[in-house]
Amino acid sequence: MTATLPVIQQGEQDHPRHPLGTRAKVLLTSVFGPFDQDDEFGSRTINPPELYQNQVTREQGVFSLRMFHGSWGLQFIQANIDAPCTLLDFPTQDRFIHELRTNAYDIIGISSIMVNALKVREMCRLIREIQPNAKIVVGGHFANVEDVETRMDADYIVKGEGVEWFCRYLGQDKPWPYRHPLITSGFGARSLGISSKEKKGDVAATLITGVGCPLGCDFCSTSAKFGGKGRCIDFYKSGEELFDVMCQIEEAMHVQSFFVMDENFLLNKKRALRLLELMEQRGKAWSLYIFSSANALRKYTMEQLVRLGVSWVWMGLEGEESAYTKLKGVNTQQLVSELHAHGIRVLGSAIIGLDHHTPENIDEAIDWAVGHECDFLQIMLYTPLCGTPLFQRLSKEGRLLSEDELEFADRHGQYRFSHRHPNIPAGQETEMLTRAFKRDFLVNGPSLVRIVRTTLLGWRRYRNHPDERIRRRYAFEVKQLATQFSAIVGASELYYRGKDAAMHRKILMILRELRWNFGLKSWFFSMIGGHYVHWAMKREERRLANGWTYEPPTSIERNFGTGNRCRYVVPRTQ
Ligand code: SF4
Repeated sequence: MTATLPVIQQGEQDHPRHPLGTRAKVLLTSVFGPFDQDDEFGSRTINPPELYQNQVTREQGVFSLRMFHGSWGLQFIQANIDAPCTLLDFPTQDRFIHELRTNAYDIIGISSIMVNALKVREMCRLIREIQPNAKIVVGGHFANVEDVETRMDADYIVKGEGVEWFCRYLGQDKPWPYRHPLITSGFGARSLGISSKEKKGDVAATLITGVGCPLGCDFCSTSAKFGGKGRCIDFYKSGEELFDVMCQIEEAMHVQSFFVMDENFLLNKKRALRLLELMEQRGKAWSLYIFSSANALRKYTMEQLVRLGVSWVWMGLEGEESAYTKLKGVNTQQLVSELHAHGIRVLGSAIIGLDHHTPENIDEAIDWAVGHECDFLQIMLYTPLCGTPLFQRLSKEGRLLSEDELEFADRHGQYRFSHRHPNIPAGQETEMLTRAFKRDFLVNGPSLVRIVRTTLLGWRRYRNHPDERIRRRYAFEVKQLATQFSAIVGASELYYRGKDAAMHRKILMILRELRWNFGLKSWFFSMIGGHYVHWAMKREERRLANGWTYEPPTSIERNFGTGNRCRYVVPRTQ
């Protein structure tokens, strides 16, 4: 039996306070693994905890990009609260129990997405058993589930932005200016059977500028979670503040690139252009990896994007006849091709199962998405996640599946519809999704080779640009082309030899261009390294065929005592 719980929203009124204030000991944790398996707690092999392998490169086999991303929301909370705090990320169940048995906590916060409902329930049960005095706070997208309070035994459920909620709960001032934690954007990168050796500064730093997106697309759970249409929360409101945070992160982490975690970074044009001014004044040649809607991108000239350092864009394509405002009047194929011509790599995101899709027209829809020739293509099923306008609409129309028809753990957009589709018979969507991923891989080849193609296009165009800052940035972009990427392309060329003549020709042309431009070094790496990588690929293929899975390592950070590893920067300008 679970107790009925108060659901606590963001807001000034009736905000709970912990009696110990910032003296309370806090544990923040993500849900427990292992993840890449089918189990009674809702882990699924089809839903691994790797962004790319899960929903972008999942049908690229040995070429798939494997990597993990930490729980940035929890890291942001940890950096902003003054209480002694431990952050446990990707624990196993045993490690979580060990933490509960060895350290007493006053507050335990769990962050989760919806599919992990049973893990949250089990973690709450364990906390009640081992640490009955701890207050349990549950947040993340899971908090948006309509009847969340009946699903586990917690004290507080935080539906909106969690940093401010926690600060208030501990009796701190509002968290302004927000401290920004030092976060490496990804870890454990592995592809073609080889794990990357990440050197300091090689991997982009995560820059969290805000949450939510005011465009409010009907399926978008991040927009819905942080206020929906017309709303978003900016952590750093001005270009000055953002620039100062970035300078400090650059210095502390020795990075030149930033993975900008903002659902629609370019929408705030005033801030972006002020950032550009400051970058130019101070000679910063940073690379920015951003999320942006097509209409926001179109508010800038290509020249502005290049000067701003936009190097990689995650953009929603959704579907050809989708009626989203962000796509109105934008020819996305043309936009992607322009971005490519300037060396800007694109991760396009497409949807299978929009209401007008049918078994008859789905191939056309797939071809349209694949025809963008994006460097990466994310494909998701049209999924009514709790809290979204789509969920409300389908609920009104009586089209949502019950939990008896589809378990919660299977509602992640890579397996089955969680509603009745008007045209696609139930069950067919799983094959359609796989078909789309396979088509993209067949037509466009390995994403890792595609990014080399796009990077070369940009470098050729800008390597002799009169602006030294722009030349420097493109030189940074090609830094690894003569070495690691020559080996990757060399191995891909060997892989496709005798298998797919058209793809082999494409890859050979890229390889020749690498060798032509980067000379002996590229020759050496593509020949010697290429053969080594090709050998590693075969070994990896055998591993994958034997069911090898990849799990994130558990990490633990304490912001107190001798194990203090939580580091952050504080903006000095507001
Ligand atoms: S533009 Fe992207 S981030 Fe914004 S609401 Fe639409 S899907 Fe969400």
